[in-house]
Amino acid sequence: MTTNLLEFDLDGLAAWCAQLGEKRFRATQLFRWIHQRGARDFDAMSDLAKSLRDKLKALACVAPLPVVSEQVSRDGTIKWLFDVGDGNAVEAVFIPEDDRATLCVSSQAGCAIGCRFCSTGHQGFSRNLTTGEIVAQLWWAEHELRRRFGTSERVISNVVMMGMGEPLQNYTALVPALRVMLDDHGYGLSRRRVTVSTSGVVPMMDRLAQDCPVALAVSLHAPNDALRDNLVPLNRKYPLHELLDACRRYLAHAPRDFITFEYCMLDGVNDQPEHAAQLIALLRPGAAGGGVRCKLNLIPFNPFPASGLQRSPAARVAAFAKMLNDAGIVTTVRKTRGDDIDAACGQLAGDVQDRTRAAERMARQRTVVLHRAPAQPRDSVRP
Ligand code: SF4
Repeated sequence: MTTNLLEFDLDGLAAWCAQLGEKRFRATQLFRWIHQRGARDFDAMSDLAKSLRDKLKALACVAPLPVVSEQVSRDGTIKWLFDVGDGNAVEAVFIPEDDRATLCVSSQAGCAIGCRFCSTGHQGFSRNLTTGEIVAQLWWAEHELRRRFGTSERVISNVVMMGMGEPLQNYTALVPALRVMLDDHGYGLSRRRVTVSTSGVVPMMDRLAQDCPVALAVSLHAPNDALRDNLVPLNRKYPLHELLDACRRYLAHAPRDFITFEYCMLDGVNDQPEHAAQLIALLRPGAAGGGVRCKLNLIPFNPFPASGLQRSPAARVAAFAKMLNDAGIVTTVRKTRGDDIDAACGQLAGDVQDRTRAAERMARQRTVVLHRAPAQPRDSVRP
């Protein structure tokens, strides 16, 4: 069986190469070919010795995920659906903006957490992705976009682990994938440009702080335990005071950082003035529990029928944001991106929630679906 080299961070690749009698610098060269240049063909890796290339051809591969479909939004957002086998599919979303270009990456096929407002949560859980399957989303997007944009410069400036799945419930695969993203011989992204989003898996937040303290986003969505128990079922295991303590411990490892709290605005559920007041009491520095150094990101809900929930009116979202900003908590309202292709937050897996239907689609839909011409090169994308 051949080994997929996308499964390794640099240390892992060096250990694998050592088994072949190769020195670490050879592993570094190979790693750079794969991740910096997007190479799959070992014969093209011209600075590797022929003897090593022959070994690689016999034993290894660089195996991307098959693309089931691609959709391009009017606003330039691109969503790819990848086949991960056994009727499962995961999605990655490219979000170009003026000052950054972000890739939203999936960590699991489905999700076991079951947040009420999340389309993926309603799909149920299939399985964890491997490190290689997480990395393959970035490998594909980065090198495909470079090819389309006609550039050898880096296209993707930020990665957010906010696609399908709870990343911290797939910890052992996640951390090597993060290391590939951060590695100067890989994608070279700074620690603050890689964000892990969690619904609050407290013990794993502590481990991440030790192992790889990237930027952390926490799906909060409610200002009290009674409401959060209902919206984010994991809260019954790790209630708010434990979650916020974990946030404070995380920041102790990253003193200049802040936590981004995600808060999906649900009409009549969590969007009232008393909810804003409770958030202020919970988060503001100097609050009874100590507060948290944070930013709050209000997310307009993208309704889907099974949720039974509705989007808060824009005026209420604005009033909610004003209360928080006036209290000194930096609060923004997320721009909705890619909603014409179901790529907006919480919409991922809208097309794949029925696994049978997904399998049928994958069987017949091997062609790329373009809703408009591919996005054009963008000067504004930060290399
Ligand atoms: S919001 Fe995140 S953790 Fe919750 S169900 Fe969706 S993917 Fe899972």
